[in-house]
Amino acid sequence: MEDCIFCKIAAGEVPKRKIHHEDGEIVSFLDLDQRIPGHTLVIPTSHHRWFYDIPDELSNKLYRAARVVAQELKKEYGADYVQLSIVGEGVAHVHVHLLPRKLSDSVSL
Ligand SMILES: [Zn+2]
Repeated sequence: MEDCIFCKIAAGEVPKRKIHHEDGEIVSFLDLDQRIPGHTLVIPTSHHRWFYDIPDELSNKLYRAARVVAQELKKEYGADYVQLSIVGEGVAHVHVHLLPRKLSDSVSL
């Protein structure tokens, strides 16, 4: 989609901060707006607004990539767990937020 920042990032037209995963269909990179250190996004390279509109096979790949990246983030940031959320607002291109968390965190994200 022409004016979608995530389509541009997926196409390599906008530089990504630290790539965690990239395979042609899925790409994962640090969010520019770091809500907490390690805040990472996982997106399909094709444009879809809502997670429930993604074809099944691509949805499986997105979720699988998110699980792998979450394991990496857990180690890299010494997190107790990694929070996953999909909101669909902000940028209208489905994106999975991964947030490395501590059990002692009191921040609601
Ligand atoms: Zn897009």
